[in-house]
Amino acid sequence: MQDAILVINAGSSSIKFSAFAVQAHQPPLQRVLGGKIESLGTSERPGPVDNPGASPHFVVTDGNGQVLAEKSWRTSEALSHDDAMAFLLEELPPRLEKCQVRAVGHRVVHGGAAFSSPARVNDEVLHELEKLIPLAPLHQPHNLAAIRTLKIQMPDLPQVACFDTAFHHTLPEVARAFALPQAISARGVRRYGFHGLSYEYIASVMAQFDPALSGRVVVLHLGNGASMCAMRDGRSIATTMGFTALDGLPMGTRCGSLDPGVVLYLLSELGMDADQVLTMLYEQSGLLGMSGVSGDMRALEASDDPAAQRAIELYVYRISQQLGALAATLGGLDAIVFTAGIGEHSVHIRSQVCCAAAWLGVELDTAANQAHASRISTIESRVGVWVIPTDEEQVIARHTWADCTSTSD
Ligand code: ADP
Repeated sequence: MQDAILVINAGSSSIKFSAFAVQAHQPPLQRVLGGKIESLGTSERPGPVDNPGASPHFVVTDGNGQVLAEKSWRTSEALSHDDAMAFLLEELPPRLEKCQVRAVGHRVVHGGAAFSSPARVNDEVLHELEKLIPLAPLHQPHNLAAIRTLKIQMPDLPQVACFDTAFHHTLPEVARAFALPQAISARGVRRYGFHGLSYEYIASVMAQFDPALSGRVVVLHLGNGASMCAMRDGRSIATTMGFTALDGLPMGTRCGSLDPGVVLYLLSELGMDADQVLTMLYEQSGLLGMSGVSGDMRALEASDDPAAQRAIELYVYRISQQLGALAATLGGLDAIVFTAGIGEHSVHIRSQVCCAAAWLGVELDTAANQAHASRISTIESRVGVWVIPTDEEQVIARHTWADCTSTSD
Protein backbone atom coordinates (compact mmCIF):
# COMPACT_ATOMS: atom_id res chain seq x y z
CA MET A 1 0.00 0.00 0.00
CA GLN A 2 1.22 3.44 -1.00
CA ASP A 3 0.22 6.60 0.84
CA ALA A 4 -1.64 8.90 -1.52
CA ILE A 5 -3.27 12.31 -1.65
CA LEU A 6 -6.47 12.80 -3.62
CA VAL A 7 -6.94 16.25 -5.16
CA ILE A 8 -10.34 17.63 -6.14
CA ASN A 9 -10.78 20.77 -8.23
CA ALA A 10 -14.52 21.38 -8.48
CA GLY A 11 -15.02 24.21 -11.00
CA SER A 12 -18.04 25.92 -12.49
CA SER A 13 -18.73 23.23 -15.08
CA SER A 14 -16.23 20.46 -14.34
CA ILE A 15 -14.70 18.42 -11.53
CA LYS A 16 -11.04 17.58 -12.08
CA PHE A 17 -9.30 15.00 -9.90
CA SER A 18 -5.82 13.59 -9.41
CA ALA A 19 -4.16 11.19 -7.03
CA PHE A 20 -0.50 11.53 -6.05
CA ALA A 21 1.71 8.92 -4.42
CA VAL A 22 3.70 10.43 -1.58
CA GLN A 23 6.33 7.79 -0.83
CA ALA A 24 9.18 10.00 -1.90
CA HIS A 25 8.18 12.77 0.54
CA GLN A 26 9.83 15.26 -1.77
CA PRO A 27 8.28 17.26 -4.60
CA PRO A 28 7.40 16.60 -7.30
CA LEU A 29 4.90 14.07 -5.98
CA GLN A 30 4.16 11.29 -8.42
CA ARG A 31 0.77 11.47 -10.13
CA VAL A 32 -0.80 8.01 -10.23
CA LEU A 33 -4.28 8.88 -11.47
CA GLY A 34 -5.89 11.87 -13.17
CA GLY A 35 -9.01 12.86 -15.00
CA LYS A 36 -12.14 14.94 -15.06
CA ILE A 37 -15.83 14.96 -15.50
CA GLU A 38 -16.83 17.96 -17.58
CA SER A 39 -19.73 19.80 -19.20
CA LEU A 40 -21.77 19.68 -16.01
CA GLY A 41 -25.02 21.62 -15.96
CA THR A 42 -28.35 21.92 -14.22
CA SER A 43 -31.86 20.72 -15.03
CA GLU A 44 -32.64 24.18 -16.50
CA ARG A 45 -29.39 24.26 -18.45
CA PRO A 46 -28.05 20.79 -19.32
CA GLY A 47 -24.66 21.96 -20.67
CA PRO A 48 -22.03 24.39 -19.36
CA VAL A 49 -22.63 28.17 -19.71
CA ASP A 50 -20.02 28.73 -22.41
CA ASN A 51 -21.07 25.71 -24.45
CA PRO A 52 -24.70 24.78 -23.64
CA GLY A 53 -24.84 22.06 -26.32
CA ALA A 54 -21.96 20.00 -24.87
CA SER A 55 -22.73 16.67 -23.24
CA PRO A 56 -21.22 15.51 -19.93
CA HIS A 57 -18.08 13.46 -20.32
CA PHE A 58 -15.86 11.51 -17.88
CA VAL A 59 -12.30 10.45 -18.48
CA VAL A 60 -9.80 8.82 -16.13
CA THR A 61 -6.11 8.40 -16.96
CA ASP A 62 -3.08 6.85 -15.35
CA GLY A 63 -0.24 9.03 -14.10
CA ASN A 64 1.18 9.36 -17.62
CA GLY A 65 -2.07 10.58 -19.13
CA GLN A 66 -2.90 7.20 -20.70
CA VAL A 67 -6.70 6.89 -20.88
CA LEU A 68 -8.01 4.08 -18.64
CA ALA A 69 -11.75 4.61 -19.12
CA GLU A 70 -14.26 7.10 -20.54
CA LYS A 71 -17.98 7.62 -20.34
CA SER A 72 -20.30 10.08 -22.12
CA TRP A 73 -23.82 11.05 -21.22
CA ARG A 74 -26.50 12.04 -23.73
CA THR A 75 -26.61 15.77 -24.62
CA SER A 76 -30.07 16.13 -23.13
CA GLU A 77 -29.03 14.42 -19.87
CA ALA A 78 -28.19 17.03 -17.23
CA LEU A 79 -25.44 15.94 -14.87
CA SER A 80 -25.20 18.16 -11.80
CA HIS A 81 -22.14 18.63 -9.59
CA ASP A 82 -23.77 16.40 -6.93
CA ASP A 83 -24.41 13.67 -9.51
CA ALA A 84 -20.81 13.98 -10.67
CA MET A 85 -19.39 13.67 -7.12
CA ALA A 86 -21.60 10.62 -6.47
CA PHE A 87 -20.34 9.08 -9.72
CA LEU A 88 -16.69 9.75 -8.79
CA LEU A 89 -17.14 8.24 -5.33
CA GLU A 90 -18.23 4.99 -7.01
CA GLU A 91 -15.70 5.13 -9.81
CA LEU A 92 -12.45 6.16 -8.09
CA PRO A 93 -12.02 3.85 -5.04
CA PRO A 94 -11.53 0.64 -7.09
CA ARG A 95 -8.91 2.48 -9.16
CA LEU A 96 -7.04 3.49 -6.00
CA GLU A 97 -7.03 -0.02 -4.51
CA LYS A 98 -3.25 -0.07 -4.14
CA CYS A 99 -3.27 3.30 -2.37
CA GLN A 100 -4.12 4.40 1.10
CA VAL A 101 -5.66 7.84 0.59
CA ARG A 102 -4.39 9.81 3.57
CA ALA A 103 -6.17 13.11 2.84
CA VAL A 104 -8.02 15.09 0.20
CA GLY A 105 -6.81 18.47 -0.99
CA HIS A 106 -9.27 20.89 -2.55
CA ARG A 107 -8.89 23.92 -4.72
CA VAL A 108 -10.89 26.70 -3.08
CA VAL A 109 -11.02 29.89 -5.08
CA HIS A 110 -11.47 32.48 -2.33
CA GLY A 111 -9.76 32.48 1.05
CA GLY A 112 -10.51 36.14 1.78
CA ALA A 113 -8.41 38.01 4.32
CA ALA A 114 -8.59 35.19 6.87
CA PHE A 115 -6.67 32.49 4.97
CA SER A 116 -3.17 33.29 3.77
CA SER A 117 -2.15 29.62 3.69
CA PRO A 118 -3.87 26.23 3.28
CA ALA A 119 -6.31 25.25 6.04
CA ARG A 120 -7.45 21.91 7.46
CA VAL A 121 -11.23 21.91 7.00
CA ASN A 122 -13.52 21.83 10.02
CA ASP A 123 -16.99 23.29 10.63
CA GLU A 124 -15.60 26.68 11.59
CA VAL A 125 -13.42 26.91 8.46
CA LEU A 126 -16.35 25.83 6.26
CA HIS A 127 -18.51 28.49 7.84
CA GLU A 128 -15.90 31.19 7.14
CA LEU A 129 -15.52 30.05 3.53
CA GLU A 130 -19.27 30.08 2.98
CA LYS A 131 -19.29 33.80 3.77
CA LEU A 132 -17.07 34.31 0.71
CA ILE A 133 -19.55 32.76 -1.76
CA PRO A 134 -20.76 36.18 -3.02
CA LEU A 135 -17.13 37.01 -3.88
CA ALA A 136 -16.76 33.94 -6.13
CA PRO A 137 -20.31 32.85 -7.01
CA LEU A 138 -19.29 30.70 -9.99
CA HIS A 139 -16.71 28.59 -8.14
CA GLN A 140 -16.87 28.81 -4.34
CA PRO A 141 -20.26 27.02 -3.95
CA HIS A 142 -18.98 24.05 -5.99
CA ASN A 143 -15.63 23.98 -4.15
CA LEU A 144 -17.44 23.81 -0.82
CA ALA A 145 -20.13 21.37 -1.95
CA ALA A 146 -17.42 18.83 -2.86
CA ILE A 147 -15.89 19.24 0.62
CA ARG A 148 -19.28 18.78 2.26
CA THR A 149 -20.09 15.65 0.24
CA LEU A 150 -16.79 14.04 1.21
CA LYS A 151 -17.25 15.09 4.85
CA ILE A 152 -20.52 13.17 4.94
CA GLN A 153 -19.26 10.12 3.03
CA MET A 154 -15.83 9.89 4.68
CA PRO A 155 -15.95 11.86 7.94
CA ASP A 156 -12.56 10.61 9.16
CA LEU A 157 -10.63 11.59 6.06
CA PRO A 158 -8.73 14.88 6.59
CA GLN A 159 -9.55 17.56 4.02
CA VAL A 160 -7.35 20.56 3.27
CA ALA A 161 -8.52 23.72 1.50
CA CYS A 162 -5.89 25.36 -0.72
CA PHE A 163 -6.70 28.89 -1.85
CA ASP A 164 -6.25 30.68 -5.15
CA THR A 165 -5.93 33.94 -3.25
CA ALA A 166 -3.16 32.87 -0.83
CA PHE A 167 -0.17 33.40 -3.17
CA HIS A 168 -1.09 37.08 -3.45
CA HIS A 169 -0.70 37.76 0.26
CA THR A 170 2.64 39.32 -0.63
CA LEU A 171 0.93 42.12 -2.60
CA PRO A 172 2.14 45.46 -1.24
CA GLU A 173 -0.53 47.62 0.36
CA VAL A 174 -0.59 50.01 -2.61
CA ALA A 175 -1.32 47.14 -5.03
CA ARG A 176 -4.16 45.84 -2.84
CA ALA A 177 -6.00 49.06 -2.19
CA PHE A 178 -9.02 50.43 -4.01
CA ALA A 179 -9.60 54.18 -3.87
CA LEU A 180 -12.72 53.79 -1.75
CA PRO A 181 -13.64 55.28 1.64
CA GLN A 182 -11.71 53.78 4.55
CA ALA A 183 -14.89 52.41 6.10
CA ILE A 184 -15.46 50.21 3.03
CA SER A 185 -11.82 49.12 2.75
CA ALA A 186 -11.94 48.18 6.44
CA ARG A 187 -14.63 45.65 5.57
CA GLY A 188 -12.22 43.70 3.39
CA VAL A 189 -13.09 45.35 0.07
CA ARG A 190 -9.66 45.20 -1.60
CA ARG A 191 -7.75 43.33 -4.27
CA TYR A 192 -7.11 39.67 -3.39
CA GLY A 193 -6.01 38.21 -6.74
CA PHE A 194 -6.65 34.67 -8.01
CA HIS A 195 -5.03 31.74 -9.90
CA GLY A 196 -2.50 31.72 -7.05
CA LEU A 197 -2.09 27.91 -7.09
CA SER A 198 -1.06 28.11 -10.74
CA TYR A 199 1.33 31.02 -10.06
CA GLU A 200 2.79 29.18 -7.08
CA TYR A 201 3.48 26.15 -9.28
CA ILE A 202 5.11 28.27 -11.99
CA ALA A 203 7.23 30.08 -9.38
CA SER A 204 8.35 26.71 -8.00
CA VAL A 205 9.58 25.34 -11.35
CA MET A 206 10.82 28.46 -13.18
CA ALA A 207 14.43 27.95 -12.19
CA GLN A 208 14.41 24.44 -13.71
CA PHE A 209 13.73 26.02 -17.10
CA ASP A 210 16.32 28.75 -16.72
CA PRO A 211 18.25 29.69 -13.56
CA ALA A 212 17.95 33.29 -14.75
CA LEU A 213 14.16 33.00 -14.73
CA SER A 214 13.64 34.93 -11.55
CA GLY A 215 13.93 38.65 -11.14
CA ARG A 216 11.12 40.56 -12.85
CA VAL A 217 8.67 38.12 -14.44
CA VAL A 218 5.10 38.47 -15.68
CA VAL A 219 3.16 35.20 -15.78
CA LEU A 220 0.11 35.02 -18.06
CA HIS A 221 -2.41 32.42 -16.89
CA LEU A 222 -4.70 32.23 -19.92
CA GLY A 223 -7.38 29.57 -19.45
CA ASN A 224 -11.18 29.85 -19.32
CA GLY A 225 -10.45 32.22 -16.48
CA ALA A 226 -7.50 34.50 -17.26
CA SER A 227 -5.22 36.72 -15.24
CA MET A 228 -1.65 37.98 -15.11
CA CYS A 229 0.76 38.22 -12.20
CA ALA A 230 3.87 40.35 -11.80
CA MET A 231 6.44 38.44 -9.72
CA ARG A 232 9.63 39.73 -8.24
CA ASP A 233 11.91 36.91 -7.08
CA GLY A 234 8.97 34.50 -7.27
CA ARG A 235 6.60 36.58 -5.14
CA SER A 236 3.42 38.27 -6.31
CA ILE A 237 3.66 42.05 -6.30
CA ALA A 238 0.77 42.90 -8.65
CA THR A 239 -2.02 41.03 -10.39
CA THR A 240 -4.92 41.80 -12.68
CA MET A 241 -7.78 40.11 -10.81
CA GLY A 242 -9.23 41.94 -7.83
CA PHE A 243 -11.84 41.58 -5.09
CA THR A 244 -13.53 38.97 -7.26
CA ALA A 245 -12.39 36.89 -10.24
CA LEU A 246 -14.30 39.23 -12.58
CA ASP A 247 -11.60 41.89 -12.77
CA GLY A 248 -8.74 42.25 -15.22
CA LEU A 249 -8.61 40.48 -18.57
CA PRO A 250 -11.73 39.52 -20.54
CA MET A 251 -12.24 35.75 -20.11
CA GLY A 252 -14.30 32.95 -21.64
CA THR A 253 -17.56 34.31 -20.24
CA ARG A 254 -16.45 36.99 -17.73
CA CYS A 255 -16.16 40.64 -18.65
CA GLY A 256 -12.87 41.60 -16.98
CA SER A 257 -12.22 45.25 -16.03
CA LEU A 258 -15.22 47.44 -16.56
CA ASP A 259 -16.08 51.03 -15.76
CA PRO A 260 -18.12 50.64 -12.54
CA GLY A 261 -20.45 53.26 -13.98
CA VAL A 262 -21.67 50.60 -16.43
CA VAL A 263 -23.00 48.51 -13.54
CA LEU A 264 -24.84 51.54 -12.13
CA TYR A 265 -26.34 52.22 -15.56
CA LEU A 266 -27.52 48.61 -15.94
CA LEU A 267 -29.19 48.78 -12.54
CA SER A 268 -30.71 52.23 -12.66
CA GLU A 269 -31.42 52.86 -16.35
CA LEU A 270 -31.81 49.46 -18.00
CA GLY A 271 -33.92 48.05 -15.17
CA MET A 272 -31.75 44.99 -14.55
CA ASP A 273 -31.67 43.53 -11.03
CA ALA A 274 -28.51 42.41 -9.22
CA ASP A 275 -28.95 38.75 -10.21
CA GLN A 276 -29.32 39.62 -13.87
CA VAL A 277 -26.21 41.79 -13.76
CA LEU A 278 -24.30 39.00 -12.01
CA THR A 279 -25.33 36.45 -14.64
CA MET A 280 -24.46 38.83 -17.44
CA LEU A 281 -21.01 39.76 -16.11
CA TYR A 282 -19.96 36.23 -15.10
CA GLU A 283 -21.65 34.03 -17.69
CA GLN A 284 -22.61 36.01 -20.79
CA SER A 285 -19.74 38.44 -21.32
CA GLY A 286 -16.05 38.05 -22.21
CA LEU A 287 -15.16 36.18 -25.39
CA LEU A 288 -18.61 34.59 -25.53
CA GLY A 289 -20.50 37.86 -25.17
CA MET A 290 -18.31 39.83 -27.56
CA SER A 291 -18.24 37.19 -30.29
CA GLY A 292 -21.72 35.74 -29.95
CA VAL A 293 -19.96 32.57 -31.16
CA SER A 294 -18.25 30.88 -28.20
CA GLY A 295 -16.23 31.48 -25.06
CA ASP A 296 -13.76 28.82 -26.18
CA MET A 297 -10.61 30.13 -27.86
CA ARG A 298 -10.29 27.12 -30.16
CA ALA A 299 -13.77 27.78 -31.56
CA LEU A 300 -13.00 31.49 -32.02
CA GLU A 301 -9.73 30.79 -33.80
CA ALA A 302 -11.54 28.38 -36.13
CA SER A 303 -14.38 30.81 -36.85
CA ASP A 304 -14.47 33.17 -39.84
CA ASP A 305 -17.15 35.31 -38.17
CA PRO A 306 -15.74 38.89 -37.96
CA ALA A 307 -17.14 39.19 -34.41
CA ALA A 308 -14.99 36.21 -33.34
CA GLN A 309 -11.91 37.93 -34.77
CA ARG A 310 -12.84 41.20 -33.02
CA ALA A 311 -13.13 39.33 -29.70
CA ILE A 312 -9.61 37.90 -30.17
CA GLU A 313 -8.32 41.37 -31.08
CA LEU A 314 -9.73 42.87 -27.88
CA TYR A 315 -8.36 39.95 -25.83
CA VAL A 316 -4.82 40.55 -27.15
CA TYR A 317 -5.20 44.32 -26.77
CA ARG A 318 -6.12 44.02 -23.10
CA ILE A 319 -3.32 41.53 -22.39
CA SER A 320 -0.85 43.90 -24.03
CA GLN A 321 -2.10 46.86 -22.00
CA GLN A 322 -1.74 44.89 -18.77
CA LEU A 323 1.72 43.66 -19.72
CA GLY A 324 2.83 47.29 -19.97
CA ALA A 325 1.18 48.12 -16.66
CA LEU A 326 2.71 45.15 -14.83
CA ALA A 327 6.15 45.81 -16.33
CA ALA A 328 5.83 49.34 -14.93
CA THR A 329 5.10 48.00 -11.43
CA LEU A 330 8.21 45.78 -11.72
CA GLY A 331 10.34 48.66 -12.99
CA GLY A 332 11.24 46.63 -16.10
CA LEU A 333 10.86 43.12 -17.41
CA ASP A 334 13.21 40.13 -17.55
CA ALA A 335 10.83 37.38 -18.68
CA ILE A 336 7.29 36.45 -19.64
CA VAL A 337 5.74 33.03 -18.97
CA PHE A 338 2.65 31.76 -20.80
CA THR A 339 0.57 29.07 -19.10
CA ALA A 340 -2.92 27.39 -18.91
CA GLY A 341 -5.03 26.22 -21.88
CA ILE A 342 -4.64 29.21 -24.21
CA GLY A 343 -1.15 30.15 -23.01
CA GLU A 344 0.16 26.60 -23.42
CA HIS A 345 -1.51 25.83 -26.75
CA SER A 346 -2.41 28.88 -28.82
CA VAL A 347 0.43 29.73 -31.21
CA HIS A 348 -1.66 32.63 -32.53
CA ILE A 349 -2.34 34.36 -29.19
CA ARG A 350 1.28 33.96 -28.04
CA SER A 351 2.50 35.39 -31.33
CA GLN A 352 0.12 38.38 -31.20
CA VAL A 353 1.00 39.18 -27.58
CA CYS A 354 4.74 38.94 -28.26
CA CYS A 355 4.52 41.14 -31.37
CA ALA A 356 2.67 43.80 -29.39
CA ALA A 357 5.36 43.59 -26.69
CA ALA A 358 8.29 44.29 -29.04
CA TRP A 359 8.65 47.75 -27.42
CA LEU A 360 9.45 45.99 -24.11
CA GLY A 361 12.35 44.10 -25.72
CA VAL A 362 10.46 40.92 -26.65
CA GLU A 363 11.65 39.16 -29.80
CA LEU A 364 9.66 36.05 -30.73
CA ASP A 365 11.29 32.99 -32.27
CA THR A 366 8.48 32.13 -34.69
CA ALA A 367 9.66 28.56 -35.35
CA ALA A 368 10.03 27.81 -31.64
CA ASN A 369 6.54 29.19 -31.03
CA GLN A 370 5.09 27.01 -33.81
CA ALA A 371 6.91 23.99 -32.35
CA HIS A 372 5.57 24.70 -28.83
CA ALA A 373 9.13 24.86 -27.48
CA SER A 374 9.65 25.85 -23.85
CA ARG A 375 11.60 28.97 -24.77
CA ILE A 376 9.95 30.84 -27.63
CA SER A 377 12.06 34.02 -27.69
CA THR A 378 15.21 34.43 -29.77
CA ILE A 379 18.63 34.20 -28.13
CA GLU A 380 19.00 37.97 -28.71
CA SER A 381 15.65 38.83 -27.11
CA ARG A 382 16.18 41.15 -24.13
CA VAL A 383 13.11 39.58 -22.47
CA GLY A 384 12.95 35.76 -22.28
CA VAL A 385 9.59 34.27 -23.28
CA TRP A 386 8.65 30.85 -21.90
CA VAL A 387 5.78 28.39 -22.15
CA ILE A 388 5.46 26.37 -18.95
CA PRO A 389 2.54 23.97 -18.38
CA THR A 390 0.88 24.65 -15.06
CA ASP A 391 -0.05 21.99 -12.48
CA GLU A 392 -2.29 23.37 -9.77
CA GLU A 393 -3.08 19.85 -8.53
CA GLN A 394 0.61 19.20 -7.79
CA VAL A 395 0.70 22.30 -5.57
CA ILE A 396 -2.50 21.25 -3.76
CA ALA A 397 -1.10 17.75 -3.18
CA ARG A 398 2.15 19.17 -1.77
CA HIS A 399 0.29 21.42 0.66
CA THR A 400 -2.08 18.65 1.69
CA TRP A 401 0.74 16.21 2.32
CA ALA A 402 2.62 18.88 4.29
CA ASP A 403 -0.51 19.36 6.43
CA CYS A 404 -0.73 15.58 7.02
CA THR A 405 2.86 15.31 8.10
CA SER A 406 2.77 18.40 10.32
CA THR A 407 -0.44 17.50 12.16
CA SER A 408 -1.04 14.32 14.11
CA ASP A 409 -4.47 13.06 13.09
P1 ADP B 1 -9.69 26.06 -17.19
O1 ADP B 1 -9.49 27.51 -16.86
O2 ADP B 1 -11.13 25.64 -17.20
O3 ADP B 1 -8.76 25.11 -16.46
P2 ADP B 1 -7.98 25.62 -19.46
O4 ADP B 1 -6.75 26.09 -18.78
O5 ADP B 1 -8.03 24.19 -19.89
O6 ADP B 1 -9.30 25.97 -18.72
O7 ADP B 1 -8.15 26.55 -20.79
C1 ADP B 1 -9.25 26.43 -21.62
C2 ADP B 1 -9.05 27.37 -22.80
O8 ADP B 1 -7.88 26.94 -23.52
C3 ADP B 1 -10.22 27.33 -23.79
O9 ADP B 1 -10.52 28.65 -24.23
C4 ADP B 1 -9.64 26.52 -24.92
O10 ADP B 1 -10.23 26.85 -26.16
C5 ADP B 1 -8.19 26.96 -24.90
N1 ADP B 1 -7.35 26.03 -25.66
C6 ADP B 1 -7.05 24.75 -25.39
N2 ADP B 1 -6.31 24.22 -26.40
C7 ADP B 1 -6.16 25.19 -27.32
C8 ADP B 1 -5.49 25.28 -28.59
N3 ADP B 1 -4.84 24.25 -29.11
N4 ADP B 1 -5.55 26.45 -29.26
C9 ADP B 1 -6.20 27.51 -28.75
N5 ADP B 1 -6.84 27.51 -27.56
C10 ADP B 1 -6.82 26.36 -26.85
